[in-house]
Order: sequence, then structure tokens, then C-alpha cells
Amino acid sequence: MGLDTNSWIDLDVDFSTKIIRQEIEENCLPSNNQVYHDSKWVSSKVNVFVWRALIDRIQTNGALNHRNIMPSPSCTSCGADYETPDHTLINCEHAVKVWHAIFSWCKIPIIPVNSVGQILSIPNTLPVTPDTRKIIHTVFLTGLWCIWKARNERIFNKSTMSNATMGDIKSLSFLWLNSRGKLATLKWRSWTKSLL
Ligand SMILES: [Zn+2]
Repeated sequence: MGLDTNSWIDLDVDFSTKIIRQEIEENCLPSNNQVYHDSKWVSSKVNVFVWRALIDRIQTNGALNHRNIMPSPSCTSCGADYETPDHTLINCEHAVKVWHAIFSWCKIPIIPVNSVGQILSIPNTLPVTPDTRKIIHTVFLTGLWCIWKARNERIFNKSTMSNATMGDIKSLSFLWLNSRGKLATLKWRSWTKSLL
């Protein structure tokens, strides 16, 4: 499609969250008061991505249509009338399947949510230890990131991406938790079966 507007998320450069956030804040004030606390356990580009999703600043079809870059604001995956961050990351049929799989893997009940902000508030409501809460939060951030990557794969590379997303979430979160969270007690074999 020749859209270079999505290329920023694929760069290998380790983004400086602070610099990018400063730049965005200077250029476009958020339309709401969503608060996002950075996680030190995920890549900084994930922190930037989730923060941008919270303030509706990722390159959804709705956003691109608003800027006259895309002819239609509808969701390429399911045909919903208007693709927003909340739609594509939480409510789109592909995202719903992934979240159900994540909830099942984390052994937490299916919780009806319809926004990125609501998903991120879930770990704080669970009766678990602080460390487990941080692990689940890391998995949720990884989930948002991988759902977006899978969405881009479907659109730009015509990939079908069915069950691969859940595998990506497990392996990427395991990698980050071990390398950044210093959780050497995590074992891959048990991790893939159940988070808790
Ligand atoms: Zn959709």
C-alpha cells in the first residue's frame, strides 16, 4: 500500500520513550486523561506503542482516514465501520480470540472489557502477589503489541496469522521477563502451559 506511516514500529532502534513522548506531547495533546505508567519489563517501543494507543495516536484505518491517507476508516480485518485502537486491539474478532486465550492461560476469568485502558486496569484488580501482578501486566502489554503486529501482518503481508499470535506473546513475554525482569525462576516448559 506504500504506507510508510507504519514503519516506525518496525524499526530496531531502541526508542527513547522520554524523547518520543515529549515530542508527541508538544505536537498533539491527548484528548483524554489516560495515564500510562511505563513498564521496565518490556521493550521501550512497546511502552511508546501502548501509550500512543491509549491516546488514539496509532495508525489505525480510522486515524489514517481522518488524515485523508486512507479512503475508508473501516477495519480491514472484520469490516467494522470504524477502526480505532480499542477496536483493533480489544474488540475486533481476532483480538477477542487472543484475549480469551490470554485469560485462559493466566487462569483468570473472561472479563468483559472494551478498551485498552480497561485491559490495563485488570491486573490491579486480581488477588495475586505484587510480582505476579507485574508479570500479568507484562503479558498484557506484550499481548497488545503482538495483536498489533499480527494485524499489520494480515494487512501488509496478507498473512492469515491464526494461532501464531499466542505463541508470540508467550515467547516474547518470557524473554522480556527473564532478561529485564530478572525472573530466573521462570521455566519455559511450564510457562507455555500456564502462566500461574
Ligand atoms: Zn475489526
